[in-house]
Amino acid sequence: MKAITLLGATGSIGTSTLDLVARNPERFRIHAVASGRDWAKLADIARASSARVAVIADEGGYRPLREALAGTGIDVRAGEAAMVATAAEPVDLVVAAIVGAAGLAPTLAALEAGTTVALANKEALICAGDVMTAAARRSGARILPVDSEHNAIFQVLEHVERVSRIVLTASGGPFRERSRAEMADVTPAEAVRHPNWSMGAKISVDSATLMNKGLELIEAHHLFGVGPDRLGVLVHPQSLVHGLVEYVDGSVLAQLGPADMRVPIAHALAWPERIPTPVKRLDLAMAARLDFEEPDRARFPALALAEAALAAGGCRPCVLSAANEVAVGAFLDGRIRFLEIADVVAETLEALPAAPVATLAEVAAADAEARARAHSFAAHRARR
Ligand code: NDP
Ligand code: MG
Repeated sequence: MKAITLLGATGSIGTSTLDLVARNPERFRIHAVASGRDWAKLADIARASSARVAVIADEGGYRPLREALAGTGIDVRAGEAAMVATAAEPVDLVVAAIVGAAGLAPTLAALEAGTTVALANKEALICAGDVMTAAARRSGARILPVDSEHNAIFQVLEHVERVSRIVLTASGGPFRERSRAEMADVTPAEAVRHPNWSMGAKISVDSATLMNKGLELIEAHHLFGVGPDRLGVLVHPQSLVHGLVEYVDGSVLAQLGPADMRVPIAHALAWPERIPTPVKRLDLAMAARLDFEEPDRARFPALALAEAALAAGGCRPCVLSAANEVAVGAFLDGRIRFLEIADVVAETLEALPAAPVATLAEVAAADAEARARAHSFAAHRARR
């Protein structure tokens, strides 16, 4: 029986995780569930999953959550310190599925405690990859990738020193075939309508700009210890091949599967075993074709920005990711236009110097400065 702490329980990954846990009660039990603001949904989840602990990051959610869970015996907590302390409690697996930089401190706490982390919160590695992997090395904690491409690569990766190239696939997003002019006036509703995957709003917009794939290159670098020269991206509109590893002998191993996050989540939950899932089976005869093309960095400049940040290292990936979070938020709120997301990120990167980051405090400082700059660049554009 694996005891699980689920951070980000109310989100898209959280919901899929709970579905798999509920289908396998003999294998998994929920120790703690945690989320940001949605105390009502968290209360329902805590009851339904028989969690022992429920944590809400927003302190204002403490009283209503406590009232909603009165009489259940569930231990109710609130605030960031409680989130971090809960993540450090001994369990078999922490599922890190908070969105954005808010996931950094609890993910680090789990790794420092030596707990295996099923990592969906890619921002933790993008912003603080060196800090996270160093903590994992010190404590012996393992990071199991949940992000579908990285999970795919994890499944086919052996002898990393014999790898000549790791390739992440990208669907190309909803605007794969559009010109820049045709992308100028797209709405948030169009941008979040992903052709293949159902995901949270922020990552859906990141898929539309291709920033998601750039962030995933940075994630892959930290997960697999492979430099940018051995990492590549291919656009693959069917989203059936999730990742490929080419070995020095010319063999290429790929993982295929339906575009359903429950496949990689199930892999990470059950690893090193496998569990059945209810997903629709991959039917290659029905799919008929697998297409691949080079990404177009001129139409999707966010990818090139991320590649440059990866090459530069230090604080650059954190600045990129923080500016992107702000810019995506401004786009979703209707304050800036779709193509301005990459503009705001580029302006923020230009405005801030490169610097090394060695601790979570330094990462937090770089993150805060990048957010402040990005907010002012976005506000400037919104006024125009
Ligand atoms: P959602 O937006 O659906 O969910 C986000 C979750 O984070 C919610 O549970 C939310 O709680 C919680 N949260 C937000 N802020 C805080 C905070 N300050 N403290 C604690 N919890 C917080 O996101 P997704 O599930 O789509 O994505 C989660 C992570 O997984 C992201 O990093 C994303 O990049 C990654 N990922 C997602 C994929 C997908 O298919 N969805 C695929 C690959 C990676 P509340 O609702 O209560 O505010
Ligand atoms: Mg992915």
